[in-house]
Amino acid sequence: MTNSPQLLNVLSIINVAIICTLLLSCQPAMTSLEDSYWIINVTIVDPIEGTQPSKNILIERGKIAKITNYEEVDRVITISKIDGEGLYLIPGLWDAHVHYAFDDKMRPAMNALFLAHGVTSVRDTGGPLELVSKVKDRSIEKPNKAPNVYIAGPLIDGTPNVYNNSSPSYPLLSVENNSLTTIQYNTQLLIDNQVDFLKAYEMLSEEQFNELMRLASEEELLVTGHIPLSMNLFSAVEAGLNGMEHLRNFEMSIATNSQELLKERLSILKNPDSLSGAELRSSLHAKQRMDAIQMIDSTLLSQAAELLAQNSVWQTPTLALYNNFATREFLQENQMAELKKLPMELAEQWRIAMEPMRNIAIDPNADIAVYSRWMKEMVEYLHANNVPFMAGTDTPIGYLIPGQSLHKELELLVESGFSNEHALQTATINPATFLGVEEETSRIKVGYNADLVLLKGNPLQNISFTQKIHAVIKNGTFWSISELDSMLIR
Ligand SMILES: [Zn+2]
Repeated sequence: MTNSPQLLNVLSIINVAIICTLLLSCQPAMTSLEDSYWIINVTIVDPIEGTQPSKNILIERGKIAKITNYEEVDRVITISKIDGEGLYLIPGLWDAHVHYAFDDKMRPAMNALFLAHGVTSVRDTGGPLELVSKVKDRSIEKPNKAPNVYIAGPLIDGTPNVYNNSSPSYPLLSVENNSLTTIQYNTQLLIDNQVDFLKAYEMLSEEQFNELMRLASEEELLVTGHIPLSMNLFSAVEAGLNGMEHLRNFEMSIATNSQELLKERLSILKNPDSLSGAELRSSLHAKQRMDAIQMIDSTLLSQAAELLAQNSVWQTPTLALYNNFATREFLQENQMAELKKLPMELAEQWRIAMEPMRNIAIDPNADIAVYSRWMKEMVEYLHANNVPFMAGTDTPIGYLIPGQSLHKELELLVESGFSNEHALQTATINPATFLGVEEETSRIKVGYNADLVLLKGNPLQNISFTQKIHAVIKNGTFWSISELDSMLIR
């Protein structure tokens, strides 16, 4: 049996009427029961075409069905209208770097947190295949209550692997590979399970990395990742790497002594002391990173920027992650207040872990602070040289709250020289382009998915206005801010 949209609307109204009667008092607000409605007299903020005031938009069956000028409002015949006057409609936001598998206590709360913050699509950049596939399947089953989830499956790592379940800081996010055969087997498994992209990790040997790239390109599957410590950026990009996370190990490839640094890493990677993956990796970062950023070779830097731009190697710098450690903004009162949106037990666990950090003075010359500033300079330089960017945060790692951290990332990108428009693109059309879905989502255009955010301010005037959320529309379903709040799992 199929119901016409009109019939559904009438049924919805009756349902709302019944609920209202039962509750005695009820806001005449839109509810999730609607599947066809107009937003009247709203200002569209499209990430490509910019601001277009006084528009009416018909949302029908999860899509943007029609866009007309406000003057034509008389022709709008429907029982369901939302007054959009004074509001700004942007595409739903993306966080292009999240980990559902990082924390079992956080995971059940993540979908509601993302939606409550206007994040309607996410890229999961590493977790066990079975676990992240389940998260993705659930988002497909309930598309109006979860963001769209794109998955890489596990980090494809070498040996010893870093995220191997050795401690709560290093849960099992990766698959260890000690030969070319295991690379072939594990990569094929991910391809057969139709992951959306692949993620290469830091402990891969050059031979393993190249084999992974070869298999991925046969399937036309994109690979993002960390530059393996056994390689430099130039050879990784030449092998076909399509994306880089956290600008990881970028500095080691563009230092004046990059060749010696590589030689030193290759010798340490033989791991004579049998360190764990996490220990071995940390020791290499500690040994080379801070010296490398003091010795950047301007010619190598400009060659790297040119190569990244020419090959469209997408950068997801996760500035919020480094900024959070450098400034400990999570200790500020407004941030501590945000913890009440988290499951209670987890919030308490975070509070206990954070509190002792109050007693440690914030040092602007500490390595993390220097590195965090250097990252912003690099982001500014690469963006100015046409390297493409996506906004991603690494939430829930580093006390970054799902959804909320994305807005911080946008502010940091603007601090790093992005225009408001370019920053908005990093969280809308850019990740959609990376995943090849830019013809169906992340624009305000007829036929596009109705994954949208209604704001009380224009983010093209001030990027912080992405936080002034009035309502979120997911797969056509209109969620008021209070409905979104009531969905949070506490
Ligand atoms: Zn990550």
